[in-house]
Amino acid sequence: MLADASRRESRQGGFIRRLRRWLILLATVAIAFFAWVKLDPSRPTAGVRRPLRYLGGQAQIQLDVADRGTGLTSVDVFIEAAGTRYQLAAERYPAIGWRGSGVLQRSFDLPVAPRDAKIPEGAATLLVIARDGSWLNYLRSTPPTLAQAVEVDYTPPLIEVLTGQHYMRLGGSDVVVYKVSKDAVRSGVQVEGYFFAGTPGALRDPGVSVALFAVPQDLTTAARPRVVAEDAAGNRREAAFFVAVKPRKFAERTLDVGDDFLARKVPELLETNRMPRTDDLVAGYLAINRDLRRQSEETVREVCSRSEPKPLWSEVFLRQPDSAPLSSFADRRSYKHDGNLIDSQTHLGFDLASLRLSPVVAENTGKVVFTDNLGIYGNTVILDHGMGLFSLYGHLSSISVPVGQLVNRGDPLGRTGETGLAAGDHLHFSVMVDGVHVDPVEWWDPKWVADHVTEKLKSFDSPAAEPAKPASAAAPSGRRSR
Ligand SMILES: [Zn+2]
Repeated sequence: MLADASRRESRQGGFIRRLRRWLILLATVAIAFFAWVKLDPSRPTAGVRRPLRYLGGQAQIQLDVADRGTGLTSVDVFIEAAGTRYQLAAERYPAIGWRGSGVLQRSFDLPVAPRDAKIPEGAATLLVIARDGSWLNYLRSTPPTLAQAVEVDYTPPLIEVLTGQHYMRLGGSDVVVYKVSKDAVRSGVQVEGYFFAGTPGALRDPGVSVALFAVPQDLTTAARPRVVAEDAAGNRREAAFFVAVKPRKFAERTLDVGDDFLARKVPELLETNRMPRTDDLVAGYLAINRDLRRQSEETVREVCSRSEPKPLWSEVFLRQPDSAPLSSFADRRSYKHDGNLIDSQTHLGFDLASLRLSPVVAENTGKVVFTDNLGIYGNTVILDHGMGLFSLYGHLSSISVPVGQLVNRGDPLGRTGETGLAAGDHLHFSVMVDGVHVDPVEWWDPKWVADHVTEKLKSFDSPAAEPAKPASAAAPSGRRSR
């Protein structure tokens, strides 16, 4: 009996001891797990989404802050400048469970107006201080999660326009000479949606810039060109200057599009320009006259986005010898087929007719920058004359110059033809300023060129007044594309 009872007791005692051991083990594991989570050693991280070097007048700071483990408890963002902290953001995240806040990632889009916030200009630091729920924070100091050097600059560059009055015609060109302060990284002339890059260093005074610009034919006489300058922080200043734009009426012409012409040109042009084939010749023609025309102009603007930072030419443009005009500049053309109006487009440039396969010459000294098929213009040569001035020779039957070659005024470029959208052998000639077609008549007029360009530049002590040195044309371009 006794032995039985003591056996039962000892069995019970053993069970309780085992249970207690198990409970202690469980409690230890739970405490260890809790501590392991709460003693989270990984600190929060922070980074800027876009490179940030400057804080301009209207800055935007985009930040990503993250934490693995317990989650964020707070994020504070400051600009520290001249020993003062300017707070941009302060967020707190309360715990939602035993683990912590559960906030593992936060994105910030912080608009900053440093001038309004009275942050002084100069060197500053972007500080991000993010905390998580780790117990280690009671034992250790919290260094900034991110400390990045930035430059606070909200003063736009200064502009001083040096040329006086600018009398222009719609579709015409002119030159403005101006000074910008040293911090300017980009300057030029803004004419509504068009930007014409200025060229620093083209004159002897390296602080002086020259911009060739146009009042494009699709604008009105209300267009107000302005000199604009931007610094590296994106601060922009605009300066008005005197421009009077004379109105003009562009010629209106109606062209009959015959079936012979469509049958001869449309399939060939669609194929040459890798456009979808169609049996509907009028539809094919419209695709060429609209889409291919637009693409061709995009190519022209792309080719003309880089130019030599000095004038390569010194004289008036040479009009093609023995050529008769078939059009004027910027004719408004209506296209009729079988008596129906099917399209209307502006013809940008000048058509010049001569004998078939006539020699085509460079109208001014420059550098060959394009020799290829160019959509509606067919086989085309484009010359860069420097400072954003270009000329284009289209519909050629043959091209005799390679890209990169320097040509003098009057040098042969090839022969006329009817490649591209041409109904007969002729030369399509265009003058462009930064890829914008301008009236060539001005550039053929010695008095206009002297008054508006060469004498004006000479009066500012310009090397443009000296003969261009082709050898220097290989210098890298200091101009920026639009
Ligand atoms: Zn033409």
